[in-house]
Amino acid sequence: MQHEYDVVIVGGGMVGASLACAIAPTNLSIALIESIALKEDQQPSYDDRGISLSPSSKRILEYLDVWDDIYTNATPIKNIHVSNQGRFGFTHLTASELNVPELGHVVIAKSLGHALHKKLSHFKNIKILCPIKLQNFERKNSKISLELLSSKGTKVIDTKLLIGADGSHSKVRSLANIEINKNDYKQTAIVSNVTTQKPNQNTAYERFTSHGPIALLPIDKNRSVLVFTTHSNEANQYLSMPDNEYIKIIEKEFGRRLGKICKLEKRCEYPIFFIEAKTQYQENIVLIGNSAHTVHPNAAQGFNLGLRDVAGLAECITNGLNRNLAIDDIDILKRYIDLRSADQKNVIDFCNSIANCFYNKSFILNSCANAAMISFDCIPELKSLLLKRAMGVAGYQPRLVRGLNL
Ligand SMILES: Cc1cc2nc3c(=O)[nH]c(=O)nc-3n(C[C@H](O)[C@H](O)[C@H](O)COP(=O)(O)OP(=O)(O)OC[C@H]3O[C@@H](n4cnc5c(N)ncnc54)[C@H](O)[C@@H]3O)c2cc1C
Repeated sequence: MQHEYDVVIVGGGMVGASLACAIAPTNLSIALIESIALKEDQQPSYDDRGISLSPSSKRILEYLDVWDDIYTNATPIKNIHVSNQGRFGFTHLTASELNVPELGHVVIAKSLGHALHKKLSHFKNIKILCPIKLQNFERKNSKISLELLSSKGTKVIDTKLLIGADGSHSKVRSLANIEINKNDYKQTAIVSNVTTQKPNQNTAYERFTSHGPIALLPIDKNRSVLVFTTHSNEANQYLSMPDNEYIKIIEKEFGRRLGKICKLEKRCEYPIFFIEAKTQYQENIVLIGNSAHTVHPNAAQGFNLGLRDVAGLAECITNGLNRNLAIDDIDILKRYIDLRSADQKNVIDFCNSIANCFYNKSFILNSCANAAMISFDCIPELKSLLLKRAMGVAGYQPRLVRGLNL
């Protein structure tokens, strides 16, 4: 007999695994489908990247009861320093200005994955199917029948609600014929860990240059994650050059704020593009995380936004079940979109406008960006808005973000 679940989540990456943890207390029967095992080096969601988590993400992860596990490997961000290469405008945001202990934390994606999957293993109502890949699905009356492929062959399972958390190139999205808006920035992020001569003092640096942003996120006293963004056609050159040559370029582009770079670790590349699903739901189907919207990593917002979507969807599912709605009632998904669309639009517009202003060769746009940074530093209201956005608490937010339970 074919196995039937209330909910199937395709994609056990950061967003899919968080969502499974968030809805587990409903006691729905849930299957989490993931094509690449956690321990594999090719696991795309849980690699050695440093991910900057906003305080709203910390709050959600606390609710999911995984923060204590993550916290031991997390580094607090106390200051954010933003500058524009070749211009004098810069802005400096500090935790003390907002009277908060920190502006966020940096965690290594792999340790986040371990914490989430450790938590998932405690829920009896969650079945993790991995490594196994979604190949196809078809609608059968009010259910969806999924065809999954693993090394052992094909398996078919049914579900009442299908959630696509399968990343930017989502199979769920393409099988559902959901169209996308796409913009290829023709930029590639090269990520590596570096040890610097001077301690980073828990400061996250972001420097905008004509070829993209350079970010340094603190992961230890003298160790930071370096995200160097460049034009995609130049990426190979930067990836293949000897360490000492690459270090010289970074020191020139970033300046010597942290002194010399004493050690450079493995470089990994990530092509950058923007994807937005034209619709995020259909009957019995919803997209979440990168499959719904993939944003430029320039403001470190992608997972933070995805996690607030997790909080929103878990809230709407829990509320719907409390109102005796069936899990496949379309009202649950409509309410989810109503709850989340304003925040999603704000973050997408914010990331796109940073991308368009700072790397634009136009003198006017670049000067505007520069003026904006000066104003951010001089006008307290603007600075507070920027801080709120960075902290993921701007606008109306789901209950978990507001510190309430579901
Ligand atoms: C260089 C870089 C730096 C970043 N830094 C930050 C940051 O500091 N802060 C931040 O908030 N965000 C950051 N992001 C964004 C963040 O990485 C993404 O938002 C996040 O990974 C999205 O998670 P996801 O689970 O939606 O998708 P993914 O991480 O892509 O996970 C999708 C999962 O689905 C699985 N899958 C795919 N297809 C199938 C299938 N057919 N069947 C089964 N499983 C499937 C994949 O194996 C994968 O595990 C950064 C991104 C980049 C590129």
